[in-house]
Amino acid sequence: MKVVFLFIDGVGVREPSADNPVNPEVCPTLCRLIAEHSVPIDACLGVEGLPQSATGQATMFTGVNCPKAMGRHCEGFPSPALREIIEANNLFLQLKKRGLAVRFADAYLVDSPEDLKARRFKSVTTVMALTAPETIATAEDLLHDRAVMQDITRETIQDRYPDVPVVTPQRAAEHLFGIARECDFTLFEFFQTDVSGHSLDYTRACAVLRAYDQFLSALVRYIEAAGLTLVMTSDHGNVEAMLERGHTRNPVPFIALGPKAAFLRERVKSLADVTPSLLAAYDM
Ligand SMILES: [Zn+2]
Repeated sequence: MKVVFLFIDGVGVREPSADNPVNPEVCPTLCRLIAEHSVPIDACLGVEGLPQSATGQATMFTGVNCPKAMGRHCEGFPSPALREIIEANNLFLQLKKRGLAVRFADAYLVDSPEDLKARRFKSVTTVMALTAPETIATAEDLLHDRAVMQDITRETIQDRYPDVPVVTPQRAAEHLFGIARECDFTLFEFFQTDVSGHSLDYTRACAVLRAYDQFLSALVRYIEAAGLTLVMTSDHGNVEAMLERGHTRNPVPFIALGPKAAFLRERVKSLADVTPSLLAAYDM
């Protein structure tokens, strides 16, 4: 089983509404995947308040109910206590233990994983990737199309890296597929959806979702043709309710397509089930 895991930040499931840009006119592929290949799962994890990125993502990639462990939903970058939970055990470490080839496809604009360690603020996925540094893609990888920029098209880095050519979303999908073909597990994280959700700018959210959907549509075609498994989920709702600046308590979609998709969809009820279910699918 070769898995492409798309983590998309801040996308919840909500009925159609004038302020919900997650609709078939804006992002037809994402909406089709949600309608035909997903189950809504819980991101609140039995803890009051709005779900947040640090604890939500840590739960997604460890299987530990992190809001419960921390006593609340924690925003942004993980605290030392939360980092400890991620470093103790996580999806990458477990896959590595099984001898599987794992890649975090988002490019870090550094020369080596060592440079990343020095960063003061590290996201959940950075903390996880540093526990298995061979998974990390650097600036060199991006230059050789062995990584994908977090904004997909590389437009946001043109001022600093004019030598790295801009790519279409379709071309970026081709690059990601090239990586995924060589690996057992490939992760790609996209957080512009959450950023645009916080902006309250409906037009901006639509533009972000439209570009992502072009990438997704090309990627799904490659994945289906090659018989890979696609898994996609989010850490909390946000962009699906543009009249609210903060996150939402809506369920998030858990999408699974391809081999073991039914097995995965049946098992995953909340963010805490994502890692254990993926590992169970590999162990079958
Ligand atoms: Zn957010």
